Parts: sequence; C-alpha cells; structure tokens
Amino acid sequence: MRWALIGASTIAHQYMIGAIRAERGEIVRVLSATPERAGQFAADHQIQQSGSDLGEALADPQVEAVYISTTNEKHLPQALAAVQAGKHVLCEKPLALTLDDAVAMVRAAEKSGLVFATNHHLRCSGSHRAVRGLITSGRIGRVLSLRLHHAVYLPPHLQGWRINSPGAGGGVIPDITVHGADVARFLLGEDPVTVVAQMASSGLGEGVEDSAMSVWSMPSGAMVMSHESFTHPFAGSGLEVHGTEGSIFARDIMTQNPIGSIELVTASGRETIAFDTHDLYQEGVRRFHAAVAGDGDPAATGVDGVKSLAVALAVRDAAARGVRVAVNYGDVR
Ligand code: NDP
Repeated sequence: MRWALIGASTIAHQYMIGAIRAERGEIVRVLSATPERAGQFAADHQIQQSGSDLGEALADPQVEAVYISTTNEKHLPQALAAVQAGKHVLCEKPLALTLDDAVAMVRAAEKSGLVFATNHHLRCSGSHRAVRGLITSGRIGRVLSLRLHHAVYLPPHLQGWRINSPGAGGGVIPDITVHGADVARFLLGEDPVTVVAQMASSGLGEGVEDSAMSVWSMPSGAMVMSHESFTHPFAGSGLEVHGTEGSIFARDIMTQNPIGSIELVTASGRETIAFDTHDLYQEGVRRFHAAVAGDGDPAATGVDGVKSLAVALAVRDAAARGVRVAVNYGDVR
C-alpha cells in the first residue's frame, strides 16, 4: 500500500510512520501547511516527496491511501478531497467537530466504495481484547457497570491547540472522552443511550475544558462512568468492568503502548489475565491494509468514528447545559 501523510504531526512521527512501514506500507509523500515544514518532516523521516498543496498530493496516482492526522477542524475538507480523488482514508479521531461533518465524510467514502477507518487504537490493543473476551465468554456474568478512567497529565509538547483552541477541536472531551466512548462500545457491544456530565478547567484549559466526568446509560441497563483529564500527573489510567459473577480490574491500559495489567476476581479468587502485547497502531494498519484488499473491516470503521464522536458531543452538551442528553447518532446504524 502506498500512503500519503496528510499532516506533519506528532502522532505520525511517534507511532504511525513506524506502524505503516512495519506493515510494509510505503509512505510516498507528506503534506503540511507550509512547504518548509513538510520538507523538514520528509527529510527527518526519509519520505521522498513533500508539499503543502493538497490537490497536488491527491493527484499523485501512486497514492492509494491517506492517513489524516492534522488538527481536527481540517479532517473534513481533507477527507472529502481524498475520497473525491479515489483514495482510501485512515482518519484520526475525533473524525470532525460535528456529527454532520463526520457523517458526510463516512458517507462519501461509502458511496465511492472506498475504505474509511478511524484511528481508535485502543480496540487494537491485546489488553482491551482480553477484557472483551472475558465479558463475551461470560466470565463475569451479566455486565452491571463499566468504570473508565483516563485522567492523565498532558505532556508539555502537546500543550498547544488541545488546551487553547476550540476552533481546532481542543478540549479533553473531543480528545480523550471520544476514545472512552469507543472503548465502551467495543467492550460492551452496545451504544450509549443517554448521558449526564460535568466538565471543568482545572489548570491547563484556556477556553476549553481540561477535565470531564460523565455517566452513560446503555441499552442493556448497564451504566458507564467515565473520567478524563489533562491535569492529573499521578492518576494513571484504567478500567473496571463489574458483572453479576465477577469483576475485571485493568490498570494502565488506556495507553498508546501495549502495557498494563488485568486481574479477574470471581468467587474462585483472583486471577491475573495474560494478553497479547503487539503494537496497537501496527495492528490498526494491518487491519486497514486487509480491508482495502477485501478482507474484513478496519479495526474501527468510519461508523465507529461517527458513533464515538456522537457520545463525546453528547457529553459536552450535557455538561454545558447541565441536563441529561440523549445521544444523537443521526441516521447512522
Ligand atoms: P500535532 O499538534 O502534533 O499536529 C497537528 C498539526 O499541527 C500538524 O498536522 C501540523 O500541521 C501542526 N503542527 C504540529 N507541530 C507543529 C510545529 N512544531 N509547528 C507548526 N505546526 C505544527 O497533533 P497530534 O499529532 O498530537 O494530533 C494530530 C491528530 O491526531 C489529532 O486529530 C489528534 O486528535 C489525533 N491523535 C490521535 C491519537 C491516537 O492515538 N489515535 C494520539 C494523538 C493524536 P501541518 O501538518 O499543517 O504542518
């Protein structure tokens, strides 16, 4: 697969270039807002071509797929242009700033018969798959509740648009709650129906929230409690799933790396659960390549991206208005 990177981003630099190359993908060009930055990024990562002209990049017949990792407000025009040019799309989360924009991107790809995936990496993780396996195999009985905690300290090199630019899609809710939504949907196999929430600026947010807590109700009757923050240096991340026959305690698994621990507690005692430690992003690229080759779906589809965004938007709306909000998935099923 020959790729173009749309966005000279930290995530491309830190994880995705390596993941694409490990899956034998070739990165043929990179696009940035300025030719100088694109050229430097290309030189740093041994990418042959670079530039700032989206039309030119998408007119390159070599390019079969694009990976979009610009700031969130740019995802919509860039994805629509890529689809129009006949390229498959792997887009970063949150797909867009609004539900309608995210739906438009996904529908455009569907109409053109192109693969569209969302880079929700956590469902590619061996730890999350192990937790899901415990749930689906009935080890904890009927699920009563899920507690997600993803309150971390945003590293200084990421303290830019995320904390001060609502226009670029900043704020912890579009940044992290959207991942929590995808995790809940992946683990429980159902979509939140209503949410209540509160949000705050607790030290970093300048015009956007840097912390949020919310409670979601699921169709089965299970409840989800979710906590995200940019300001917690020592809280760690994790999740707990509680069922009628057992509880799962997973620490440090809401991460970009295959780390953490999982413990199952039932009437028989405590058990440490082993899990696969493959690279999360590489697994996402592997599934994307397979989907383009006609073998199955990407790990997180465009519809997954739309639905997880819908939950995050509902959380922000509920927190802003101080009311219980029904999640609006539009006509997406
Ligand atoms: P960055 O801030 O590193 O990059 C976003 C854009 O900002 C880049 O495309 C670039 O624009 C511009 N930029 C970055 N650094 C500089 C700089 N030094 N000078 C000038 N411009 C700069 O963002 P992230 O990589 O953290 O996030 C990008 C996207 O990926 C977001 O949508 C985010 O939500 C998502 N993300 C997803 C993760 C996941 O695990 N799925 C993890 C982290 C982020 P240009 O390309 O125009 O030069």
